[in-house]
Amino acid sequence: MAKILIVEDEPAIAELVALNLRHDGHDVEAVADADAAVERVRAALPDLVVLDWMLPGESGLSLARRWRAEPRTRELPIVMLTARAEERDLVQGLDAGADDYIGKPFSAAELLARIRSLLRRKAPEALDVAVQVGRLRLDPGTMRVFADATQVHLGPTEFRLLRFLMTYPERVHSRAQLLDRVWGDHVFIEERTVDVHVKRLRDSLQASGCATMIETVRGAGYRLARPAPVSA
Ligand code: CA
Repeated sequence: MAKILIVEDEPAIAELVALNLRHDGHDVEAVADADAAVERVRAALPDLVVLDWMLPGESGLSLARRWRAEPRTRELPIVMLTARAEERDLVQGLDAGADDYIGKPFSAAELLARIRSLLRRKAPEALDVAVQVGRLRLDPGTMRVFADATQVHLGPTEFRLLRFLMTYPERVHSRAQLLDRVWGDHVFIEERTVDVHVKRLRDSLQASGCATMIETVRGAGYRLARPAPVSA
């Protein structure tokens, strides 16, 4: 399930997109203009944005450019909705930073397929896909984690944290990024909260010998290290 923000000023279209995405199991919110979208994203980073090109006030194109220019939203997956099907326009949309675009009118099946494929590419932790790193295997469908054949019991926050770290092995995440992507709130939760849950996660992984996979990177944040291959 992904958190998806729809930015669309035509209520009928916003409703149609929201209905289909909810039916597909996503957590959906819709706003009608760029200002509301900026405010929403500032409060909590969605997994993906469906952005209408033609909005009253600031256009979707300009908003996409703005998000791409900020480090926090640079990687935000954006699908642009457009009634302007001319090739020149589409190129402009992709240049502005849209990851994909869908021409109006569109079919629900096409919309869902495009969104699913973009999530797979840019936010796989939002899909219910099992991940394996080294001896650890995590299955969001069953909410279970195994180290080899032994189940590891985690609290819900530790589960989400491990899932995110396992989705991007070796990558270093700052505490602010983890709050944004795992907690969905970087404004009201203190960064120290991340440390508390990392400690709990390491404690839970201790018996399996996998705790050392969670590395502290001084001055930067945390990462999940892929274990070195065992040489013969
Ligand atoms: Ca519009």
